[in-house]
Amino acid sequence: MTEGAASADELLLRLRRFHSDYFPRHQQRFQDLVEQGQHPKTLFIGCSDSRLVPYLLTGTGPGELFIVRNVGAFVPPYDGSHGLHGTTAAIEFAVLSLHVERIIVCGHSHCGAIKAAYEGVPEEAVNLQAWLKLAAEAILPVQSSPEARYRSEQRAVVLQLERLMDYPMVRRQVESGQLTLHGWHYVIEQGEIHVFDAQQGDFVPASLASNSGTGPYQPYVEHDGQILSD
Ligand SMILES: [Zn+2]
Repeated sequence: MTEGAASADELLLRLRRFHSDYFPRHQQRFQDLVEQGQHPKTLFIGCSDSRLVPYLLTGTGPGELFIVRNVGAFVPPYDGSHGLHGTTAAIEFAVLSLHVERIIVCGHSHCGAIKAAYEGVPEEAVNLQAWLKLAAEAILPVQSSPEARYRSEQRAVVLQLERLMDYPMVRRQVESGQLTLHGWHYVIEQGEIHVFDAQQGDFVPASLASNSGTGPYQPYVEHDGQILSD
């Protein structure tokens, strides 16, 4: 099978294969989703990178993930200062209309967006240049290196979680316990998601983590039992 630069005919073959092989085996599922509508419990905000495959990583299928993807898995400011944006609209729709129960922000290793934030973009890419400012606070004041970029990929995920909390409908539902925020860093070469652990303040491989990440905004319980709000 041709990978990558598939010819138009190859694409057509794949479309036919979906219709003739996959669809008949899952037809009832699709029928139910049409008749009952979609009720995904998860909003997945992921980087557009082709190596990040949300359905594979989470073992999900049709109807389970409401997905918005962009370069870097960034969340624009709620206040509209970043212009018209589909990601902002998708967050509002997922939270206010679909009533999702969790929001995942998923960055990844070897992210081109973070690399570009360190090393620059072609002069003509004016929109990309502006977009990458959403990661500015995650960029370290050092030369670009694999270690610095890895660190920044993780910092960028936490930064987007913080920005999500500036969305009034997100903050309201997180604080009332109806919504949880999850920060993930997919390490491609390990085949593993590292989840942000609010208590440790660090990313933990899923194989060692006690939960799939709750975001940094659950009330933090001190050792004496007192709950500290942020
Ligand atoms: Zn990326």
